Amino acid sequence: MLSEFDLISRYFTRPARSNIAHIALGVGDDCALLTPTAGMQLAISTDMLVEGRHFFPDTDAFALGHKCLAVNLSDLAAMGARPLAFTLALALPAAREEWLAPFSSGLLALADAHHCELIGGDTTKGPLNICITVFGETAPGQALRRDAAQAGDDIWVSGTLGDARLALAVYRNELAGQLNADLQLGSENFLLAAARMHQPTPRVALGLTLRGIARAAIDISDGLVGDLGHILARSGVGATLAVDSLPAGTILSQQNLDIRRHFTLAGGDDYELCFTAAASQRDAVLAAAQTSATAVTRIGCIDAAQGLRLLDAHNAPLNLQLSSFDHFHTS
Ligand code: ADP
Ligand code: MG
Repeated sequence: MLSEFDLISRYFTRPARSNIAHIALGVGDDCALLTPTAGMQLAISTDMLVEGRHFFPDTDAFALGHKCLAVNLSDLAAMGARPLAFTLALALPAAREEWLAPFSSGLLALADAHHCELIGGDTTKGPLNICITVFGETAPGQALRRDAAQAGDDIWVSGTLGDARLALAVYRNELAGQLNADLQLGSENFLLAAARMHQPTPRVALGLTLRGIARAAIDISDGLVGDLGHILARSGVGATLAVDSLPAGTILSQQNLDIRRHFTLAGGDDYELCFTAAASQRDAVLAAAQTSATAVTRIGCIDAAQGLRLLDAHNAPLNLQLSSFDHFHTS
């Protein structure tokens, strides 16, 4: 059986890399030491993933390692912050190497892709629970805050929405008989949708290139309507969305209109960015999308009048009952 310290040194400690200037001291001491670039602000965010709540008990360990860092990097992306480092607090039922090895590989592969170093954490026995805190940096005044949207702004979204929610529907056996495109557990299309659920892509490069171009931003974890709602509430504005121009995921695009509308608007687990920018910035937004190799779609506009208005393809009002994900109001 691995001891706590063997486990940390084998799976969560890597040789110090002198080329990472901002990490003065990593794993192994009482604290890590970070040296942010002079004059920059630290952006800090924490996200916890709990077995049975955020992921199924038999979730693939490599994908889980990826996802628990991805959701945290997504918060840095939504702020327009550059990732620097992260800590990992882990409660594990047992020190199983056949789980730890792929978990650590999935986690550290994404960390390396973003030059985001694991600098410390805590390890304890208990029901599986993974808590990551990320540290990033951004220039003062450049962070993409939720309270910065202004009436007249365009609303944009990155990538596509809803495939992760579609995969969840298959796991839960919801919508039986209503799904097109051969969506059975294990089918090719199901696996494509499930990849969006299990291994989301944090839009870090887009967030960085949108600094100075976008005004407000948020990452979509609980569904577009709920998350855009946070921007509206914090900015004291309303919005109109062109529901039928929302970019549906590849597999969701093959479903009926009702499912497409519900899962693009209120799917969850998308980890795309929703952001606002002045209409005068349209070309700059498209250039940022190109620079960061991330598709973006204009989906609506910010209104001075409070509330959210949903329009169909003919600009007629839509009245949909949507529920966004709220951990304390759903079972
Ligand atoms: P302390 O007793 O001060 O809490 P620990 O014995 O928990 O220290 O941890 C020893 C070192 O290992 C610390 O530098 C801590 O940051 C690091 N560490 C512990 N768990 C993890 C983990 N899961 N991932 C990365 N580093 C870890
Ligand atoms: Mg400790």
